[in-house]
Amino acid sequence: MPDCIFCRIIQKKMPAKVLFEDTHFLAFEDINPKAPTHILIIPKKHIESLDTMVEEDEFAVGRLFMVARNLAREKKVHRSGYRTVINTGTDAGQSVFHIHLHLLGGRPMAWPPG
Ligand code: 5GP
Ligand code: ZN
Repeated sequence: MPDCIFCRIIQKKMPAKVLFEDTHFLAFEDINPKAPTHILIIPKKHIESLDTMVEEDEFAVGRLFMVARNLAREKKVHRSGYRTVINTGTDAGQSVFHIHLHLLGGRPMAWPPG
């Protein structure tokens, strides 16, 4: 994982507004929020993307959604609704190659995404 920004956040070598942490997962506020609530949820294991996940990562990737669901309730966006997104690869606009689930909420969102 050459110089992965999210691994550096996990290792506390770089600051972040952490909202949830346990042994294997971390959630923190996006530095450039696209909605009033914009949280990134990541596994501490460096998985580059959904495309490079392997079978043993199935639980980790699924658990990202459970953490998102809990944080959506904490942020009180669960009633108004929220969006969970994993961008994979260039066309989707993935810019950090450590898998992350975006949790976006607090405003109405258009569909389809741009
Ligand atoms: P992607 O474009 O890969 O789906 O999402 C990467 C996200 O990471 C972007 O929304 C971007 O704002 C966020 N981001 C990039 N660098 C940092 C950082 O150093 N700290 C935090 N908190 N978020 C970051
Ligand atoms: Zn990483």
